[in-house]
Amino acid sequence: MGAVMEAISAQAQSPAADPGLIDDLVAANRILYDQGVVDGFGHVSVRHNTNPDHFLLARSMAPGLVTSTDIMEFDRDGNAVDQQGRAVYLERFIHSEIYKTHPEVKAVVHSHSPAVIPFGVTTVPLRPIFHLSSFLGAGVTVFEIREAGGPATDMLIRTPELGAALSRALGSAPVALMRGHGDVVVASSLKEAVFRAVYSEVNARLEAEALRLAPLGQVTFLNDEEAANATATNAGVLLRAWDLWKAKALAPAR
Ligand code: MN
Repeated sequence: MGAVMEAISAQAQSPAADPGLIDDLVAANRILYDQGVVDGFGHVSVRHNTNPDHFLLARSMAPGLVTSTDIMEFDRDGNAVDQQGRAVYLERFIHSEIYKTHPEVKAVVHSHSPAVIPFGVTTVPLRPIFHLSSFLGAGVTVFEIREAGGPATDMLIRTPELGAALSRALGSAPVALMRGHGDVVVASSLKEAVFRAVYSEVNARLEAEALRLAPLGQVTFLNDEEAANATATNAGVLLRAWDLWKAKALAPAR
């Protein structure tokens, strides 16, 4: 009986999340679709504001169609707290394992951001090509799923163990490239995570463009000091981009 009660209480919902945070998570889903970071696939989560062990994530669906009623609460192991029969993302362990092991992370974006993919499958590093992607100066890691899952996975993070391996590969980096799959972007706020996800995609496009003009050795990236300084500057202007992207992504269809 005690064990049953414990199981029930472990599933208890946290005190209600900030409605503003839920609205922001809906906007984040729509922005990431509108900006070409996610398509029918990919997901974005935010750490729960009243229970830091939990996080908020949409039910399994296309991010571009998410509304507030689709947002669900998940516990630290990636279990839905009140599933109500809804389908959940197979790869939710990306989120649960990162929140579990990186207390400073408040938001996680997982996508198959198309321009980023080539940097996960070649030795060409994803580095900051311009000031708005300066956060990449902190380093980008590459997750090789064969090291954790063997030579014959379907590339997906479908277990907590694979999520934990990805989280270890991420380390303190803002971005981990998932070879042959996509990437994961983390930040200390939801709006910053969206900013980083959008500008990771833009940086990848621009860097590939630069590499069509010149070999890697002739491309000049931001140095460490420039990257750190630009990142400090960008923190003050993040919201301008968010407001614009949100207005466009949530505008009624015409
Ligand atoms: Mn995926």
